[in-house]
Order: sequence, then C-alpha cells, then structure tokens
Amino acid sequence: MRGVVFLGDRKLEIRDFPDPTPGPGEVVIQMKASGMCGSDLHPYRAPAGSAAAALGLGASDLVIAGHEPCGVVAARGPGVPEREAPTGARVMNHHYAGCGLCDHCRLGWSQLCAKGIVVYGVTGHGGHATYMKVPARTLVPLPDSLSFEEGAAISCGTGTAYGALKRVNASGRDTLAVFGQGPVGLSATLLGAAMGARVIAVDISPERLTLAREMGADALINPGETEPVAAIRALTHGLGADCAIDCSGSSPGRLGTVQCVRTWGQACFVGEGGQTTFDISKDMLRRQLTLHASWTFSATGQGECARFIADRKLPLGKLLTHRYRLDQAEEAYRLFDTQTTGKGVFVS
Ligand SMILES: [Zn+2]
Ligand SMILES: [Zn+2]
Repeated sequence: MRGVVFLGDRKLEIRDFPDPTPGPGEVVIQMKASGMCGSDLHPYRAPAGSAAAALGLGASDLVIAGHEPCGVVAARGPGVPEREAPTGARVMNHHYAGCGLCDHCRLGWSQLCAKGIVVYGVTGHGGHATYMKVPARTLVPLPDSLSFEEGAAISCGTGTAYGALKRVNASGRDTLAVFGQGPVGLSATLLGAAMGARVIAVDISPERLTLAREMGADALINPGETEPVAAIRALTHGLGADCAIDCSGSSPGRLGTVQCVRTWGQACFVGEGGQTTFDISKDMLRRQLTLHASWTFSATGQGECARFIADRKLPLGKLLTHRYRLDQAEEAYRLFDTQTTGKGVFVS
C-alpha cells in the first residue's frame, strides 16, 4: 500500500509500505477519509529530521502521517471478537494508544498514559494510507448519518472543539468568544451555537468570518480592523464574554482569549505550540479567571461528539472545502500551508 510521510522543510513523499496484518488485539481499517489537521503543519513545516519532535511528542522514525482516520473494518487479529469490530463496520479511530491498563487508558484518555503513548500519524503509522492497523479498543463507531469525511473531522479537529466546549461548560446562558476560525475554531462556533451559546467569532480572514457566520456565529470581529477585547466588551454590556476559547495558537489570540472574558469567566487554550506572556495579576488574579488547557478528547468523548452532531443534523460537511486523492498529497499540503479557509480531507 502507499502512505504519505512528512520529511520536514515542507516536503513529503508518498512511499510504498507492506499491507498491514493485524496482530493480537488489533484490527486493520480500510481508509475512506483521512483529514488534514492544523497540527499536521507543525511536522510538515519542521526542520528535516525533527518532524515528530515538533509537537513535543518525542522523536520516532518516519511514519505515515494523518491523525484523523475514518473508514471500515477490513480485518481482525487474534482475540478480537466479531462483536467488537464487525467486518465492514463504519469506524473512526481515537488516534492514541497507551498501556490500556492505567486509569487514564481505562477512562478512554489514553493520550494521558504515563507509560508512554503512540500517537497515530505522529509517532505511529496514521491514516494517510490505504490501510491502518490499530488496537481494536481505539475504534469509535461512526453514526450512519455521518459521512466518512465528517467522521475524519471529528477524529481530531472537530472533536477537539467539542472537548474544549465541555471544559468551559458552554451553554445557552453563555456568550462564547472563539479566537481563530480555522477548522477547529469553526467547529467550536458550530458546536457552541448548537449548545445554545451566543458565539462571537474572531479571525483576521474575512473568508473565514463568512464561514463562521454560516456556522452560526452571532457576531464577527476582525482584529485587523477592530481591537477584539474592546469589541467583545461592547457586545456584552461592558462585562466581557462568559467564556472564550483560543483556536488560533497565536500569541495575540491567546492574550485576547484571557482578556476578553468577564470577572469569574473561563478561558481555554486549544491551539498548539509556542509561548505567550501575560500579566498574571491584572489579566487573571484580579478577575478570578479560570484558565483551562484542553488536549483533544477521550475515546468516549469522540463518540459523544459524533452523536451530538448526528442527532442535531449539524452542517459539519460545510467545513470540508477541499477533497484530494492520496497521490495529490503534495499539492494538498502546499495549499493547506497557505489556504485561508475551510478544511481538506483525503478521500478514497
Ligand atoms: Zn495507560
Ligand atoms: Zn489534530
């Protein structure tokens, strides 16, 4: 089979790999859709030889990229009962494997396992390939009414937005500010609005703000034109937002996320990488701020996110603006590196 490998320095290759055979406890997924996530740009852009290290997840040999895998069960290894992974079942993959035995693993948060983890698409072979081999326990069912492409989005970017909204407990009582309207931020806008929150979407791209409006944003702010913290206060009777999520990963976005919430408000960091400085007393202590850091979601949280979207018939498909075959990977990532709106996915 073929798989996409990041080489760093904005280079990638499509290489031949042996078709995977499932070992004990494992399954092979035939890929139907494999999403491109913003965090893929870290290894893609990293200096050659340090792709895996770019996300602070440890170095490893070059692996097949793609951590938003979605497809059908193609083969089961020894010890995997049919009821756990029926052949042909539509599945997503919770893209981490830990020891399987510790409290974090048993709760479905295997990415927090202290015994060491595999992150599929980063430190283990991922979804930008014909097939993918994973432990059966990492499978998450895909509701019938969702497309494979939507399942791919839920497998990292959209699921991550859902996880952050749960951390700040967003509800119909809240005004929620979302900084950054890339695929994760747009998902936070869509899901936050569906949870009932009044969403203020912030981004420097007019195209992204247009999409945010379609996803249910009540107000749009372009920091290139307006100072966002003052604008959010003006929209909230001078109080500030009840909660805010940074999906930009940028220093100004994070600062705005902390500064735009009201006294007793909640801020949540989602965007990866880099460093940000803020004034602890003025920006946090004096306002009794709660600051969350949210890393993706649990395996059961991934299933919950999928059911939430399916049950409410949310238009997640609108997020998927670019579709590619695997042999277009070079062009796909070149465009993703510079594109200003929407999300790309490999389909087969
Ligand atoms: Zn564990
Ligand atoms: Zn991701």
